[in-house]
Amino acid sequence: MEIATQLQQVERRIEAAAQQHQRNPTTVQLLAVSKTKPASMVQVAYDAGQRHFGENYLQDALEKIEALPLKGIVWHFIGAIQSNKTRTIAENFDWVHGVDRLKIAQRLGAQRPTEQKPLNICIQVNSSGESSKAGVTFEELPNLAQQIAKLPGVQLRGLMTLPAPASNLQQQRRPFQQLREALEALNQSGLNLDTLSMGMSGDMEAAIAEGATIVRIGTDIFGARG
Ligand SMILES: *Cc1c(COP(=O)(O)O)cnc(C)c1O
Repeated sequence: MEIATQLQQVERRIEAAAQQHQRNPTTVQLLAVSKTKPASMVQVAYDAGQRHFGENYLQDALEKIEALPLKGIVWHFIGAIQSNKTRTIAENFDWVHGVDRLKIAQRLGAQRPTEQKPLNICIQVNSSGESSKAGVTFEELPNLAQQIAKLPGVQLRGLMTLPAPASNLQQQRRPFQQLREALEALNQSGLNLDTLSMGMSGDMEAAIAEGATIVRIGTDIFGARG
């Protein structure tokens, strides 16, 4: 498996999807999801020019962050957040995508070291309404967003979602469209959000069609996870 080649193929897919929808490809950032993969693979992707990496499992991530003190590398925490882990997350990452409770956002902000820039966060929305999934409902979102936007130590950047798998492009686009509309509504109510974190290996084209600004791609770069 050639990580550099696969990375390039994913970049081409981003470009093609962006162009198809009259978007500038540079407005779609590729987040390489390296969860469960070794530091050596992150290094290969970095050497090929990739800078943003996403991790779900804190211990696994910390080992890689420590092993790879590389210039310009940016770490995103995209996993479930336990409240007793917020300090470690606030100290070691620049982005957190899965915030769905005020208490977690408060802790992240309070524990963010003051010499670092505010922690960028996205609110996770449960866009497909499955009760098993993390994230707030679209109904709960406006209130939570207004409260998080006022907190010190964090900068609310936008929304993230991880919808249920859908088989065709039209079905895939629906939750992403809802997320975009929710972001637009929040901005109309006075917030200033610029990030839609949506789209994975299987549905990134649909997400880009609906305005994704960050796509989170694991499998199609690093291969299937064991
Ligand atoms: C694992 C994961 C991804 C990447 O999924 P792939 O299908 O491997 O591209 C994206 N987002 C989140 C939140 C994940 O947990």
